[in-house]
Amino acid sequence: MPVSEGVFLVPEMSSDPRIRVFRRTLNVVGEFEGMEVDAYIVITDNYLVVFDTLLCPEDVHVMMQVVQDQLAGRQVLVVNSHADWDHAWGNAYFTREQAAPIIAHEYGLVRMHSEEARAELADYQQRYPIFHNVKLIPATLTFTQKLTIHAGNLTIELFAAPGHHLDHIAAWIPQLSLLLAFDAVEKPLPCIEDAAGVPSMFATLERFVALQPERVLCSHGKTTSPELVKANLAYLREIEQRCHALLLSHRPTPQELEHASGLINYPLDEVIAGSTEPVDRTFYGWAHDANVRYMMQWLLA
Ligand SMILES: [Zn+2]
Repeated sequence: MPVSEGVFLVPEMSSDPRIRVFRRTLNVVGEFEGMEVDAYIVITDNYLVVFDTLLCPEDVHVMMQVVQDQLAGRQVLVVNSHADWDHAWGNAYFTREQAAPIIAHEYGLVRMHSEEARAELADYQQRYPIFHNVKLIPATLTFTQKLTIHAGNLTIELFAAPGHHLDHIAAWIPQLSLLLAFDAVEKPLPCIEDAAGVPSMFATLERFVALQPERVLCSHGKTTSPELVKANLAYLREIEQRCHALLLSHRPTPQELEHASGLINYPLDEVIAGSTEPVDRTFYGWAHDANVRYMMQWLLA
């Protein structure tokens, strides 16, 4: 198997040796400039739990090499946070000789089996060689609301956390006061799936806040601060408030909703003001406009 050079351990993200954080970077000019996604391996008494399989089986190979000395006596379990290409396209690593249970939300099966997913994979494979060995491997164990892994020294509570996607889940490890939020929390801003995802995203973020985590890991954003959960929630509340204000005097047309952030006078610059990290303006500008549009559509419905 060709070894992927785009994956590395990020020790500064976790001082606890039981939680290993890995980062995948992808640089394709004009498309994924500076794209980064994190995955985790949680090592407990009885299990080695791989949270997300990144972009391709080769990515998982790198992660598993790093924890090879921890495998003896531990069952490998795999968890997909959701079925997006940057989180679950390495699942094929866990077939055949490396077969392991793959846990995900039940709706992830629908996504994995969809024509949309097949078309997306075919498109990516045609354009980029790194996706050559990707196969759409659906989960083997699914749940809808909650599933607890009693892993000896640590308890891992998986629960539905929709909003970014219908099949999105999060993980809570109470002994460490650690929340794995994946794409429900993101820096500089979270991405809502559609208008129906708006109330789900609010509920998910409010549930996260109620857990009072000491540390939060998210898939995109290089931070462990629980403050980001509150910042994401405040951002969405701000959009909601400005949409409400506009709707008092104006009902926007579908054309106006194309650039919805301008409509409510909430430019990306204002959202990311004070951010010290460079921001992918193309991607987050699009995501911000989409968030405002979905909020407006939800309020109008
Ligand atoms: Zn993602």
